[in-house]
Amino acid sequence: MSNTAAPLEVLIDELKRLPGIGDKSATRLAYQLMNLSADQTEKLVQAIRGVHTKLNRCRQCQNYTEGDLCPICADPKRDHSTICVVEEPKDVFALERAGEYNGLYHVLHGAISPLSGIGPDQLRIKELLARMDPAVGEVIMATNPTVEGEATAMYLSRLLKPLGVKVTRLAYGIPVGGDLEYADE
Ligand code: ZN
Repeated sequence: MSNTAAPLEVLIDELKRLPGIGDKSATRLAYQLMNLSADQTEKLVQAIRGVHTKLNRCRQCQNYTEGDLCPICADPKRDHSTICVVEEPKDVFALERAGEYNGLYHVLHGAISPLSGIGPDQLRIKELLARMDPAVGEVIMATNPTVEGEATAMYLSRLLKPLGVKVTRLAYGIPVGGDLEYADE
C-alpha cells in the first residue's frame, strides 16, 4: 500500500541495502538522484560500474588497484621490510590519510568470524604467508579492535611467529569496539 511510484520505490529499496543508509536517507537520496540530468545520471552509473570492472586486487597486498601492482607496493621509497595487516581496503585509506606509516600493507578482505561463517580460508592469508621472506622484518597487526579482529590477529601471530618474523599489534588510541575507519589521524 505505497503511494510512491514503483521505479522510485525500487531505487529507495536498493539504496537502503547500503550500510548506514536508513529509510529517510534512502528516500532523500532517491529524490536527489531523480533530479539529476541524463548526463549526470550516466556519469554516476559509469562511475559505479567502473569500480567493479576496472579494479583488480594488487597481486602483492590484495588492495584494489587498476594495475597488477598497486602504487604503494610499487613505490621503492616505502619500507618494504614492514607489512601492516588490515581487514579492509578502507583501512589502508585511513592509515594513508594519517600519513604516519611508510611500510607496505596486506589486506585480508575480512576477519575471522565463526558466527558469520568466515574462516581463515575465506581471507587473503595464503597470500600473506607467501610474502614472508627474509627481507620482511616486521608484521604489524592492524585488524580492528573487535572480537573478530583480535581473533584474526591472534591466529595470524601463531602462523607467522614460527617463521621467525617479528609480529606486533598496532597500538590504538581508540576505544575497544571502535572501527579503524572512524579513528582520527
Ligand atoms: Zn599492493
